[in-house]
Amino acid sequence: MKRILVVEDEQAIREMVGFALERAGFRFEEAADAEQALVMIASRPPDLVVLDWMLPGMSGVELARRLRSEDMTSRLPIILLTARVEENDRIHGLEVGADDYMTKPFSPRELVARINAVLRRTSSPEEERPIEYEGLSLDPAGHRVQADGTALELAPTEFRLLHFFMTHPDRVYSREQLLDRVWGRGVFVEERTVDVHIRRLRKALAGRGHDRFIQTVRGSGYRFSTRV
Ligand code: CA
Repeated sequence: MKRILVVEDEQAIREMVGFALERAGFRFEEAADAEQALVMIASRPPDLVVLDWMLPGMSGVELARRLRSEDMTSRLPIILLTARVEENDRIHGLEVGADDYMTKPFSPRELVARINAVLRRTSSPEEERPIEYEGLSLDPAGHRVQADGTALELAPTEFRLLHFFMTHPDRVYSREQLLDRVWGRGVFVEERTVDVHIRRLRKALAGRGHDRFIQTVRGSGYRFSTRV
């Protein structure tokens, strides 16, 4: 379970975000100021930090800068929260190394969707290793797919879908689960959109017959399997 640390001095916002995070399947951790956050991060770095810009004592921007400057935390994903809307501040926030940025008031669902997107973008090296099944290979870091050595052109959604399938083989996923895991929770897309992308993915894989790996399980959803 991914751990999200929320650094925010307003308790009401921490509670609102915490509720949304737990509902989305994250482990919620909280700190009321930057100093407390530093202690928590040093003892056990979370998977992502949601950081309020305006904090008593050390500001969120200052904390972001410190996290970026230290080896242990230089790659820790950060989403900055702020009440400021000026373009200069937005640029400033991204300059200190935040991965994304949300202006208050915000919808907790949108925050969850952004968290999923940032986690996908910044996935750990473990998840970056190339994967191969019977001549079908996918290189997450290089964003490349090959079928028996021939490069395939996949659209971003088909690529993510295939990556998810190849890292979760032999299990059936419903359309709803695929939407959550591939598109991200809190993103509102109709379930039949999944069918459209499955169809495109199969078409892209059909050249060398790898479309056989994408199996329809009637009444349940889809499965990636090299077994028939
Ligand atoms: Ca604040």
